[in-house]
Amino acid sequence: MKSKASGSKILSLSMLFIFAVFFLQIQLSAGIKSKLSSPANDQAVDEEYTRLIKEATTKPEFLSPLTRYLPLVEGVPTPKDVLGYIAGAPGKLTYYEDILKYMNALAEASPNVQVFPIGKTSEGREMIIVAVANKETMSNLQKYKDFLAKLADPRIVKTEKQAEAIIAQAKPIYWLTGNLHSGESGAAEVSMELAYRLAVDENPAIKKIRDNMIVLITPSMEPDGHDKHTDWFYKYNKDVTDYRKISRVPYWGKYTFHDNNRDMICISQPEMENGANAYFDWHPIVVQDNHESIAFLYVSSGTGPYNRHYHPSVTSEWNLIAWWEVTRLTSYGMPGVWTHAFWTGWAPNYWGAIAGNHHGIIRFYETFGNSIGNTMERDLGEGRRRVTSREWYRPLPPYKKVLWSMRNNVNYQQTADLEAFYFVAANKEYFLKNFWKRGLSSYEKGKNNPPYAYIIPAGQKDPVDAASLVNLLLKQRIEAHQAKSPIKVKEGEFPAGSYLIRMDQPYCTLAQNLLERQKYPEDAPRAYDDTGWTLGLHMDVKTVEIKDKSVLDVAVVPITKPVKAKGGVLGGKAAGAYIINNTTINNLLPARLKLKEFKILAAEVAFKIKKKSFNAGSMIIPVSGASADVHQDVQSVANELGLEVVSTKKVPDVKTHDLDIPRVAIYHTWFSAQDDGWVRYAFDDLGIPFTMIHKDHLKRGNLKDKYDVIIFSNCRGRKGADIVNGLDPEYRGSLAFVKTREFKHLGTPDSCEDITGGMGIEGVSNLQKFVNDGGLLIALHNPVRVAIDFGLVRGIDVFQTSSKFYNPGSLLQSEVVNEKHPICYGYDKKIPIYRSQSGPLLRIEEEKEKHVVLRYAKEGEVCLSGIVKSQDEIKGKAAVVDMPVGKGHIVLFTFNPFWRDLSRGSYMLVFSAILNYNDLGVGLEK
Ligand SMILES: [Zn+2]
Repeated sequence: MKSKASGSKILSLSMLFIFAVFFLQIQLSAGIKSKLSSPANDQAVDEEYTRLIKEATTKPEFLSPLTRYLPLVEGVPTPKDVLGYIAGAPGKLTYYEDILKYMNALAEASPNVQVFPIGKTSEGREMIIVAVANKETMSNLQKYKDFLAKLADPRIVKTEKQAEAIIAQAKPIYWLTGNLHSGESGAAEVSMELAYRLAVDENPAIKKIRDNMIVLITPSMEPDGHDKHTDWFYKYNKDVTDYRKISRVPYWGKYTFHDNNRDMICISQPEMENGANAYFDWHPIVVQDNHESIAFLYVSSGTGPYNRHYHPSVTSEWNLIAWWEVTRLTSYGMPGVWTHAFWTGWAPNYWGAIAGNHHGIIRFYETFGNSIGNTMERDLGEGRRRVTSREWYRPLPPYKKVLWSMRNNVNYQQTADLEAFYFVAANKEYFLKNFWKRGLSSYEKGKNNPPYAYIIPAGQKDPVDAASLVNLLLKQRIEAHQAKSPIKVKEGEFPAGSYLIRMDQPYCTLAQNLLERQKYPEDAPRAYDDTGWTLGLHMDVKTVEIKDKSVLDVAVVPITKPVKAKGGVLGGKAAGAYIINNTTINNLLPARLKLKEFKILAAEVAFKIKKKSFNAGSMIIPVSGASADVHQDVQSVANELGLEVVSTKKVPDVKTHDLDIPRVAIYHTWFSAQDDGWVRYAFDDLGIPFTMIHKDHLKRGNLKDKYDVIIFSNCRGRKGADIVNGLDPEYRGSLAFVKTREFKHLGTPDSCEDITGGMGIEGVSNLQKFVNDGGLLIALHNPVRVAIDFGLVRGIDVFQTSSKFYNPGSLLQSEVVNEKHPICYGYDKKIPIYRSQSGPLLRIEEEKEKHVVLRYAKEGEVCLSGIVKSQDEIKGKAAVVDMPVGKGHIVLFTFNPFWRDLSRGSYMLVFSAILNYNDLGVGLEK
C-alpha cells in the first residue's frame, strides 16, 4: 500500500487541493453534515418569511439547506419586520438608511450583535461594521482585538510557543464587505439576513461560527453610490426585465466609480481610508469583498501569476477555502459554483488587499447579479465570458439560460459566506497560526535578506512628492525613519534627513512590493489589472534599494506623523524678485493661483543666480509694481505649499513670458464617468479650482468666453464618434440625473436634465471654435480620437498596433523631445509615465513631427515596471503632441497622466500646459 502512495507525486497542484479538501471535509463534516442540512430541531421557524424565500427563488436547486428557512426568535426583528419585505424580495432594493435602521434594530435586540461606525463617506453617510459573535465574545471584544493585534506583530509574539498560547484563547476575525460597486447590489441585501442568521440560528454549524469567530459585516463599502443606484432603480429601471435594457446610473462615489476597488495602494478616498483604519483597529485575518458579474458564483483563487510578495500560504489558503465552498455548494446540488479561471492575484490594489497586503488574506466572490431588484431571463451564451462548460475547476457548470432573481443571488452569496465562515471557524488555530507566521516570515526576511532598506534621499528635486510617498507608506502602517546624519553605504552617500524604509519590520513585504519594480511574466495569462505600480516611478521620486546590510546601523528617528516638505523664502525680503525654481513640483500651479494678485513671469530658458541654477519655467515674481505685502504673501504660500523661494536683488535678465491666470474646465462624458473623477480628485486635493462641464456646455458654445483651458478627461470609446455620440437614447428616451424630492440622492457630483446623447457635431464645432479663438484643449488619452476623427488636428492618425502589442497598465520610459517646450519645463530628460493599452498611439506625418514634445523611449527598454510586449511598436512614438490650431492649441496625451492618484510625477505635464496656456507657442518657435 505504501508504494502506491508515491503516485501522488504526479497529481497536479489542483488535484492536491481537491484531495486536501476532501480529506478536511470528511474530517469536518462527519459530525455536522446532517445538522448543517436542517435547522436545529427545537428552533421555531418564521413560516411566512420561509414561504417568501421559496417564492422568490426561481428553482429549488438555487436554495440551500442553510437558506431554505429562517429561524424565528421572539423579540429579534427579521429584515421583513423592519423593511416590510424579505432580503432579495423581487422588485426591491433597500436604501442605505433602511439598512442602518435594520442593523441597529438587530443590535438593539440581540446581545450577539453590535454596530460600530467607522467613518463618513464623501457625502457624509456613516459607514459601519456590524460585529456578530456569541455573547461572551461580544462582551470582551477588546480582549479579542488585542490578541489579533499581537499576532500581527512578530516583534511582540516572537516564538511558536508564545503564538500558540495566544492562539489558544484568540478568535479569528473575518470581515465580509460588499456593494463596493454600486451596481452590484446583492451583498447589501444579503448583509441584513446574514447578520440575523448569524445572531440567532441554533443550527450547530452556525453556532460554531458564533462561538469560534467574530464576523464583521459591512453592508456597503460605497453607501453614496448605493443610494444613487437605488434611486436610479426606482426612477428608471423599476419595470425593466431585459438585462440589456437596464440603464446605469452615471456616478457612484464623488470621485471614483469602479476604480474604488483600485485604491488600496494610495488609500485616497475617505471610504477606503475608513476601511483601512478599521482594518488596523480589528486586524481581521480575512477581508472578503463580494462582487457580482459572472454566473452563478465564482470564488476567488485566481489563475496566477500571483503577486510575489504574497506568502505561499496566502495562495494556498485561497485555494483551500475556495474548494471548500465549491465542494459544499456543489454537494447541495447548487449549480455553477467554481473557482480558478478568473482574476490573476497579481496587483495589490483592490480593497480587500488591505488584508492581503498585511498578512491576512483577500478573498472575493463574483455572483450572478441582475444589478436591479427584478427577476429576469438571462442568457449566458451572450456574455463576454463563457462560463457554462464543465471544467476541473467548475464541476457543475451554470445553465446556459436561466430565470434569475435577486433572491437566487442572496441564497448563493449567503450560503457560501456561511460555509467560508464555518470553515475558518472550525479550523481557527490553523488560520490564526498562518496569519502570525506570515508576519514573522516577512519580518525575518527583511532582517536577514537583501534589500535591507529603501532610501528616499533628502534633497530631491520634488520634496513635496517625496513627502507624499512617505505619508502614503505611513497610511499603510509601514514604518518609516529619518536619518540623523549622512548615510554611507555601498549604493552611495545620502544626506542627513533622508527617509529610510527599513526592511526589518512586519510589513516589509508590502514596502518592497510598493517600492520595487514589477516584472510581469511574459508567458502569463493576460493581466487582470495593472502589472506595474512602482511608487517611485509613478511619483517621479528617487528611491534607492539598499542591499548593504550596514544600512540597518544608521542612526535614525522614527517618523510618527505625516511629513511635510519645508518651504519658505531664502534670503529675506527681496529688492528685485522672488524666484521659485521649476522642479516639477505640482504645487507650482496652486502657488500661481494663490498669488493671483501678482504678476508672475516664467523664464523661457535655464539661468543662474550666483551659483544657483534655475530651470526653464521657473517662476519670477518681480517686486516692483506689486503691492507692499508681496513678501508676506509669497512667504505664506511657500510655507503652505512646501516651496523653496529665493529672493534676489534684481529681476534676473532672462527671456520670460507672463503666467496669466487660467480659467479651467474639466470635461466629462455621461457614459464613462470614471477617469474624470481622478482628474477632479487631483485638482481638489491640490486646491486647484475648476469647473466641471459636460455635453450641454459644449453644445451651448461661447466656450472661450468662459474658459481658457478645457481638459477632456479619459473615457471609453472605440472611436471618436462613440465619444461624441454619448449614451444611446434608443431604449429610454431622456434620462435626468437631477436631485428631486423623490430622488434626493441623484444629481451629484454633477447633474443634467438629460444625460443621453453626446456633445454631437455641434459640440465638436464649438470645441474647434474655442481653440481657434485661442483656447487650449488638452485631450487625455482616448479622447485624442475625437481630435483626430473629427479633423480638429491635421496630419495625425491613429497608429494600428499589431495583435502582439500588449501594454496593460505599466510604467514606461518616456523622453523629452523638445526641452524648451513649456510642457517639459523642469523635467529631466527622461520621465517615467504610466500607460495602458486602452487609448491610441499616433502616426504622425513628417512635417508635423516638430510638434512632438515627449516620446516613448526610442532606444533600450521602454518598460520600467510591469510588461510591454512587442515593444518596437511603441518605441520612439509620440507620447505628448502640441498642435497649434488657429489662435489656440490642442495638446494630445497618448497616455492618461492622472492615474488613480498614483501618477503624481506626470501631473506637472498637464499643469505646465495650464500655467503656460497662452504661451505654448514659445516651445514651437524655431
Ligand atoms: Zn465589482
